[in-house]
Parts: sequence; C-alpha cells; structure tokens
Amino acid sequence: METKYIFVTGGVVSSLGKGIISSSLANLLIARGYRVTIQKFDPYINIDPGTLNPYEHGECYVTVDGHEADLDLGHYERFTDIHTTRANNITTGRIYQAVIDKERRGDYLGKTVQIVPHITDEIKRAVKALGNSGNFDFIITEIGGVVGDIESLPFLEAVRQLRWELGDSSLCIHLTYVPFIAAAKELKTKPTQHSVKKLQELGIQPDILVLRTEHHISTEMRRKIALFCNVAPDAVVQSIDVDTIYRVPLRMHEQGLDDIVLHKTRTTPHAEPDMAAWLEFLHKMDNATDTVTIGLVGKYVELQDAYKSIDESLFQAATYNGHKLKLVYIHSEKLTDADVDQKLGRMDGVIIAPGFGQRGIDGKFVALRYCREHDIPTFGICLGMQCMVIEFARNVLGLADANSTEMSPSTPHPVIDLMEEQKSISNLGGTMRLGAYDCRLVPGSKAAGAYGTTDISERHRHRFEFNDSYRDAFEKAGMACVGINPAAQLVEVVEIPGKRWYIGTQYHPEYSSTVLHPHPLFMSFMRAAIQYRDERAKTEKH
Ligand code: GLN
Repeated sequence: METKYIFVTGGVVSSLGKGIISSSLANLLIARGYRVTIQKFDPYINIDPGTLNPYEHGECYVTVDGHEADLDLGHYERFTDIHTTRANNITTGRIYQAVIDKERRGDYLGKTVQIVPHITDEIKRAVKALGNSGNFDFIITEIGGVVGDIESLPFLEAVRQLRWELGDSSLCIHLTYVPFIAAAKELKTKPTQHSVKKLQELGIQPDILVLRTEHHISTEMRRKIALFCNVAPDAVVQSIDVDTIYRVPLRMHEQGLDDIVLHKTRTTPHAEPDMAAWLEFLHKMDNATDTVTIGLVGKYVELQDAYKSIDESLFQAATYNGHKLKLVYIHSEKLTDADVDQKLGRMDGVIIAPGFGQRGIDGKFVALRYCREHDIPTFGICLGMQCMVIEFARNVLGLADANSTEMSPSTPHPVIDLMEEQKSISNLGGTMRLGAYDCRLVPGSKAAGAYGTTDISERHRHRFEFNDSYRDAFEKAGMACVGINPAAQLVEVVEIPGKRWYIGTQYHPEYSSTVLHPHPLFMSFMRAAIQYRDERAKTEKH
C-alpha cells in the first residue's frame, strides 16, 4: 500500500507524552498487521543528544546502528519491537549541517540558501526517506517541543508543506493539555483552543486532538472543543492519566484512535488489532501481589528519566516474573561504609548504573564491596561493570590503587583503560564505541545460561574497556571473563561464578528489552533477586 504519514505535534506545555501516544498508535497499527516506524525531530542545535548531560535531556538512548538518540526512541522500541536507526531521530543541528555541507559543495548552484525552501526541503527529505524505503505502511513523525516555540517553526512549516503535497495520505494529531482548576472544580479548554489556533496560524489544521487530562472529559466538553477547533467530534480523544504507560494503547483503541487514523488516511482496515500478548503482560501486572525490591545505585537518582531504559527493563522483568517492582534509587555520591548496610541491606538485588566521570564513583565501590561480600544479586552495567572490575582489583587482588584511566590517568593499575581506537579521538560527539557488537559467551557461564545461547549482539556506548593484561589475574582470583567480542577480543561480560548472581556487562542490555520481549539478563537477574528474597524470608521465619 501507499505509505501514509502521521504527524504528531504538541501544544500548551511540554512533557505531555507525545512519545507515548505515538508509540501507542504504532503499537495498535502493528497489531493490525501494518508495517510502521516512528521518527522524532528534535528542535535543538546539538547534532544528537550524545553530548548532553542527563540533567538536560534524561537518558541517552542508543540504536543498533550506533546513533545516540532521544529517549523517546526507547519508548518506540519498547512499545513496538521495531529497531530504530539514525534515520528515526533527527535534530535541527543535523538538518542545518546537511544544508551547510551541500552549500559548501556548491549543490545550490549559486542560490541564496534560506530556511524556506532549503531547510524545510531537507526536513521533508528526512521524513520521506523512511517512506521511500518501501519498508513501511505508516511513518509516524513526532515533532519535539511545543507549538509556538521559535525552534520548531521550520519543522511545522515542513509539515504544512507535506500535508499539502500528500493530501489524504497524511494527517496531523495534535496533543494538548486540559488543566483542572481545583478552586473552580473545572476542566478548562481555553489553552487547547489557543494552541490549535496557533497551529492554524501556521497553516496546519489538526485532524485529531488528543487531550491530556487528569480528569474525565465529558462528551459535551469534547463537542465544544471539536466545534472551536474545527475537528470532528469523534476525533477528539482523551488521554487520561494511567498507572502505567503500557495501558495507553488500550485506552486509545477504546476511543477508536486507530480506526480514525485508518479512516482519515483512507486505509482499508485490516483485522482488529491482535493485542493478546500485550493483554497477557497487563494481566500479569495486574495480578502480581508480591513485591521485589531492587536498589539502583547511580548519581542521577533525583532525575526521573536518567535511567529510563533500566527502570523499564526491571519493570518488565518483574512483571513477567509475576512480581510488582519496588525500585529504590540510591545516590552514589551519598553512599558510605557507615550507611551502606542500612541502605542496601534490605535489597533483593542491586543495579550499579552506567555513567561517566569521577562524581559518585566511590559510592559505587562501597556498594559493590557490600554486595559482593554479602552475596546480593548484583548487576553492573557499563560503568557499573567497570566498577565491579576495579572494586575486585582493589579488595580481592590487593591492587589498592587500581582504577580506570577515565578517573585516574596515572593509576599504577589501569584495570580499565581507554580503548586503543579511542586514543586518537579529540571530538567528543558521536565518537564512542556505539551500537550493536557481537559477543561470544563462555558455555556454562551464568550469562550464557541466562541467554540460552552463546552468540549474542548487544548495544554499546563507552570509551574505556577491561584491560586484557589483567585477565589471568582476575580469572585466577575468581572473577571470570565470560563474554568476549570475537573481532576485537574485548571483554564484554564478567561474572563471579560462585555468587548467587554477580554479573557485569560492558554493553547496555536495557536498550533492547521490550514489553513483548523482556531481556533475558534482566529476567535472570530478577529471578535471582526473587529467590534471594524468598531464602531470606525462610531463614527469618526459622
Ligand atoms: N565512562 C565509561 C566509558 O566511557 C562507561 C560509559 C557508560 O557507562 N555508558 O567507558
């Protein structure tokens, strides 16, 4: 079928969950048998979010093809099981860079290069590139930011032009906010009306409105909004707060969002969406009674989105293991030998988070020593794995000053060292070891047992690595190197075989855990945590 384009814009305020609505719609269309992908335009000048501090933009997500991407791409993958790529996340910076490169090459043949048409053409090219691949029936394009921002103007102008060109093969969904004024006990539609007016001023008439709200919006109020905003009454959908984002596809389907999209894009509907596996997940979630408590040790714990993919992977694994997840954030900068027992003693499992730089690192060593000595199921991810190696070197191998050269360039025992290929790099953007690499697991290891295979491929984002010259010393002392990259012989997975579950991965398994395919390592970690909790409960009873 001819590719259909769906644009998703946002109004009134940011953080309304455009990514979740886009993901939910993609989920429903895929469940109906269509081929769908989702793309996000971010209206900032950075080429990608790879150089952004998590305080600015939450987690940096990594695609299989090694693109450092907005965390919304994580939602897209978790909701749809599709693999996103570099083409699925494009910033203003990338658009301008492409245009400026063309200008320098002389491609514009002496013309004055302008926002319209050159920047807008480049944006349109990026939208259509996915459609032209022939791989998709629907391209959902989310425009970051809020209508009215200076930054998003060129993107909205490109949407206006595309809608004109594509006609019925495209539509626009506008997501707005309907606030509840407690003193008046009333929901207010005026911000939505203004936001739609703003969009109309830019030449875009939304086809569907999704209203984010904390209270039910009556049919009467929806009719009023439809009337004022030039939208069909059945195309005004509410997105009311839910306990978990994974319920949103069902809420959207109940109100016919996917049907409206098919109807408006003149697409003959396939069957009703097959949501059996999704419903099974929600059923497990609703019926979980016992709680598993996981501590996450990191330095961005006051920030909700910094460890988004890890949080979601843990939640999925807990749900599939029939448990509710209690995730306790433990600030690595504040963790000391004096309070580690009080902070970690009651955890069923501990995650040592990824990260960069010295800040908060000592708390990670304190946590790891405690977890290793008390045999608590422990999962180190990227920097977390590197800290596992350093802590082991210091406290088991007796190399008191062992460190990573990231934290201490002159350490006498660089057990974690800069990768050879990184030594000549001076630009920091997009130059880490990024994306999916193969890894071979040692048969019989706990990690291989968790995966049920020895050949895996996982996503990376790092510059430093396990220093191979220490490998024998570690192996002899009881830390096994059980995952190796076959091409470069880099150590990707370490574990202590004698422990309940003590595994560190140089890669980020959290990027590839989805609702329908929870990640095997998180599943295995969660089983170990639940078992550990049960063992403790038994001994406490006796
Ligand atoms: N800072 C470490 C490195 O660059 C780990 C990176 C990470 O945790 N993503 O190797």
